[in-house]
Amino acid sequence: MSGAPTSDTVVAAATPGGRGGVAVVRVSGPRVREISQSLLGIVPEPRVATYRKFLDAGGEPIDQGIALYFCAPRSMTGEDVLELHGHGGPVVVDLIVRRILECGARIARPGEFTERAFLNDKMDLAQAEAVADLIDSATGAAARAAMRSLQGEFSDEVQTLTEALIDLRMFVEAAIDFPEEEIDFLSASELTERLARVFELLAALESAARQGQILRDGMVIVIAGRPNAGKSSLMNRLAGYDAAIVTPQPGTTRDVLRERVEIDGMPVSIIDTAGLREAAEPVEAEGVRRARAEMSKADRILFIVDVTAAGEDDVTSLEWQRLPPGVPVTRVHNKIDLVARGRARVAETAEGSSELWLSALTGEGLDLLRTHLKACMGFETAGSGTVSARRRHLEALARARGHLEEARSQLVERRAGELMAEELRGAQGALAEITGEFTSDDLLGRIFGGFCVGK
Ligand code: GDP
Repeated sequence: MSGAPTSDTVVAAATPGGRGGVAVVRVSGPRVREISQSLLGIVPEPRVATYRKFLDAGGEPIDQGIALYFCAPRSMTGEDVLELHGHGGPVVVDLIVRRILECGARIARPGEFTERAFLNDKMDLAQAEAVADLIDSATGAAARAAMRSLQGEFSDEVQTLTEALIDLRMFVEAAIDFPEEEIDFLSASELTERLARVFELLAALESAARQGQILRDGMVIVIAGRPNAGKSSLMNRLAGYDAAIVTPQPGTTRDVLRERVEIDGMPVSIIDTAGLREAAEPVEAEGVRRARAEMSKADRILFIVDVTAAGEDDVTSLEWQRLPPGVPVTRVHNKIDLVARGRARVAETAEGSSELWLSALTGEGLDLLRTHLKACMGFETAGSGTVSARRRHLEALARARGHLEEARSQLVERRAGELMAEELRGAQGALAEITGEFTSDDLLGRIFGGFCVGK
């Protein structure tokens, strides 16, 4: 996408509100030099930290600190940028921002600095998304994956696949241009090999993107079962594992039900149905409704039963009825330490459901559970090659795969060069959406709207 010139100058605090040592206010756009002149009395030398007073319209100092000027195009946004590092107080920051607004800037929209960087070809769309993912990452592994995407690793892999696809297209289109030889071309083993190579690259990319998406969005588990089955013990076990991060998120009713843990780098949100029951006051009906809606989107239910309890009782079946329909279930038989020859194990039952035996008390079988949860998501422990990716990227890859499969059947079943070329073009278009070569304003609005202000 070519850099659309932006005519206005934007300003925002780049550091979060509140009190701290330093706050950074960022300004970007064509009026940066002019603003700098009014505010600082000078335009600082590019890229040289310059200690100045920040002046109000009457020449009185509002604050003093470091001014950094980046001359277009060698800046984060590709435009003239001024960064003011002042004292970290909300009032001071507000005064500085207001002063810059007086000088003719406007407040930046969320993500607008990054959007400008994208529009000015400083980064592609997947990298811009990685900026937000890095800021929002919930685990260390997710942050590292986002950093790799930000540095362009994911984009490079998309590019490698795109190039293989272009080669293939040239090969097929050359065949179409010489119709008398087309049949020979299309039956050439080289063509089949090239297509196989494209599929190979696509599969690797899909797998990397899938891991990345799990790292970013995590797994959502609903934990259920009758009281005393051992739900809390199990949650504590999962949370207490290794360097797991537990952040009970205070705030809304819905958030109270949720715990976040980490399994080998995979963020896992656990929603507790017991909390849901306790919250079922009429006044909290909305919270409950939302919690239910979230449960139905969960990746898996862990239904805990006590192995020592004989048979299915009424309470257990009532709990069972509370479960959101359509979500795969693992029935966890807890307290195996209490039965003779109780042994931790896992078994597949019908249609993606499983049964697992463990003891939340002794911890026996917990590793099986963790491995099981990772396997359910298709998650492999985040390695050094994992990049961050989003659902949007997976959808684009799935579209590319659809076109490629169609291309293959055009080749194999019909030897139809024209149609095959058409599908290959479609596949290339789907890949281009990932890096943002072809994007709608609507999509850009959605992506950058999800950023925080000042980024
Ligand atoms: P919840 O009501 O489902 O959250 O159940 P809790 O986690 O509070 O556990 C209920 C009781 O069962 C507690 O006394 C636990 O110590 C005990 N318990 C939980 N898991 C096990 C287990 O694996 N073995 C044994 N022996 N006791 C357990």
